[in-house]
Amino acid sequence: MKELLNYIAGEWQKPISDMWLDNAEPATGKVYSRLPDSTNEDVDMAVEAAKKAFPMWSSKSVEERSRILLAIAHEMKSSFDALAEAESRDQGKPLQLSKVMDIPRAIQNIEFFATEILHFASESHAAKGVVNYTAHSPIGIVGCISPWNLPLYLFTWKIAPALAMGNCVIAKPSELTPLTATMFAELCMKAGLPPGVLNIVHGSGKQTGAAIVDHPEIKAISFTGGTVTGEHIASVAAPTFKKLSLELGGKNPSIIFDDCDFEEAVHQAVRSAFTNQGEICLCGSRILIENSIYDQFRDAFVNKVKQLTVGDPFEDGINVGALVSKSHWEKVLSYIQLAKEEGGTILCGGNSVSPKGRCEQGWFIEPTVIEGLDNACRTNQEEIFGPVVTLQRFSSEEEAIALANGTRYGLAANVWTQHLAKAHRMAHALDFGIVWINCWLLRDLRTPFGGMKDSGVGREGGFEVLRFFSETKNVCVKF
Ligand code: NAD
Repeated sequence: MKELLNYIAGEWQKPISDMWLDNAEPATGKVYSRLPDSTNEDVDMAVEAAKKAFPMWSSKSVEERSRILLAIAHEMKSSFDALAEAESRDQGKPLQLSKVMDIPRAIQNIEFFATEILHFASESHAAKGVVNYTAHSPIGIVGCISPWNLPLYLFTWKIAPALAMGNCVIAKPSELTPLTATMFAELCMKAGLPPGVLNIVHGSGKQTGAAIVDHPEIKAISFTGGTVTGEHIASVAAPTFKKLSLELGGKNPSIIFDDCDFEEAVHQAVRSAFTNQGEICLCGSRILIENSIYDQFRDAFVNKVKQLTVGDPFEDGINVGALVSKSHWEKVLSYIQLAKEEGGTILCGGNSVSPKGRCEQGWFIEPTVIEGLDNACRTNQEEIFGPVVTLQRFSSEEEAIALANGTRYGLAANVWTQHLAKAHRMAHALDFGIVWINCWLLRDLRTPFGGMKDSGVGREGGFEVLRFFSETKNVCVKF
């Protein structure tokens, strides 16, 4: 069985406690590797390595840091196929998706922040006889904790800006998807990243994640994951005055007006609902449809959903792979049961799937569409994070806004209308950190990324994240 190790001080390290976790392939349900369940002692060792590396890394010129990050991106390109295969094996997503989304975006993250840092500038305020300028310096040692749904994509989304800004990083990928982060460490070694600048410590959230959040010498935590975990981290970190960036859950609406480009709206609503088995924080899981086209849209949508194929992520033509873990698979199935109990009608899907052959024991669920539920029920309020969506009707802009905003979450919304003024009105009225008009998951890495309400605190992306990963100082000079 493959053994994954921690990457500390530029070397592979076994967990000091010799505690391990099993790692399973979602498509087969079988354990195929194990990873450290690291403790405080391993995190201490990583922090010592980062402390040693920090003076050297932070004093490098931005050009030098940029060059090393670009060399890492180059190594990733050389290992593209191996990374894509590992990601699909570890996470359950179709291989094709890893090839067109996860791995290209992970490479783009590194390249983007490697070059963005060359253009990062701060403000200056001139007045009579005095000038103020803002200085940004690296914080020191920062913690990056990432989830399992887009493993290397979100791992690199955090560590690239942290490193570009001159910090040293203690990173923990999800214990459910540790593989590509481990491969990434190897690529960093090849690319010449100095030892101790990036340290990857594997393990469970409760043990390893908590040790990172608790560590007094880790000055900032960038976390992406569930809202409940985010609440917990915020409560633990607040008394220590650590900087916190929290990217949390969502219950995103896709809002379909009767003046939309119908074919495109149907196509994108399906994509937004079921890409990555619905396991993207930005997926549209509540589809709100204007009354006048409700029946027509529902029928076209369900018809398209029925054409999606579920099965082995490594087979050609598969649209929906396996859910990441047995417990997550059970959770999603329990929500389908709940929807029935709440009075919902299953229009298609609703069952687990057991593909023939090697994936018979895998964790698959049919893409599921439900109608007939009101906005207040749990199915429409709680994040399911799987291939399950609900359809609801609305008959006015005001009602669409009330339904869309009527949850605790505020991550992303997508709106489908050809009416320019209505599109802008909606964008302003929706309480979401991202509003896509006539598109979905169209990302420009220069833009601020994050959620309102219980979907998070702070923004990633663009220059925002460089500010997060730095200390800001006002320097006032009288002359
Ligand atoms: P999770 O909260 O269970 O875990 C996320 C990470 O936090 C993992 O690495 C985990 O080990 C770690 N962790 C768990 N408990 C911890 C603790 N007490 N202290 C420190 N670390 C801890 O989330 P998940 O199930 O891995 O991911 C799914 C969730 O992530 C969904 O809610 C989804 O919406 C959210 N998500 C949000 C975004 C976003 O950008 N807003 C992106 C992707 C996923």
